[in-house]
Amino acid sequence: MESITRVSLPVETRTPGGKTNAYVVGERRAVLIDPAARSTELDRLVDDRSVTNVLVTHTHPDHVGALAEYAARTDATVWAHSSHCDRFVRATSTEPDRVFEDGTRVDAGDGGVTVLEMPGHAPDHVALVTEDGVLVGDLAVATGSVAVTAGDGHVGKYLASLRRLRGMAPEKLFPAHGPVIDDPEETLTRLIDHRLERERRVREGVRGGARELDAITDAAYDKDVTAVRDLAEGTVAAHLEQLAREGKVIWDGECAEPA
Ligand SMILES: [Zn+2]
Repeated sequence: MESITRVSLPVETRTPGGKTNAYVVGERRAVLIDPAARSTELDRLVDDRSVTNVLVTHTHPDHVGALAEYAARTDATVWAHSSHCDRFVRATSTEPDRVFEDGTRVDAGDGGVTVLEMPGHAPDHVALVTEDGVLVGDLAVATGSVAVTAGDGHVGKYLASLRRLRGMAPEKLFPAHGPVIDDPEETLTRLIDHRLERERRVREGVRGGARELDAITDAAYDKDVTAVRDLAEGTVAAHLEQLAREGKVIWDGECAEPA
């Protein structure tokens, strides 16, 4: 017996739509995922069930805000990614009790999740497989696209994660932002195509003579990105890093040239 309950939480840190979905997996004994903020609804839910384990899909600020509080309130076992424990402690001010890696089963008794490493949006990003579908964090969204920006983002790993998930043919995806995704294959294909199209535009911009990030960003977007300029430039920089890894452009962080 397993169930997935979603609680939409308003978060103050920059995030798509200003909200993050926390999930509780399991009926009586449960796993709490992405407690981004405190809310009375989530208070009631965790008080109602026995939350035995808590973890996050990744440690971006809009996913971890109330982890310490709910860990204390429930006395649950706190899990962190085995390769990113320091990052977890920095983000949550909480010492993990246990660590997970690819394939780890986090079992609450009558429900649980299996961890899959799905980096790309962030280096410590994971997806969580349940009987009813996959909790995908910021790997996928029903509409629009996911931020993969230089710094935390890695375009090659993000594409590999999307393809890995698509290959598993999940029935449903439960994202950290926005509604449940009922058509995983279409959505994952859309996100892959979107990323490859942006890559094509970035490469074309460099080929067309754009050299600096500013100019390449202008070349890579048709729409006006003034309001999200830093996000757009971060995205383009992540693509330039990937194209440089693949030997398709030369990029030193300042200036790009065709390879
Ligand atoms: Zn994130």
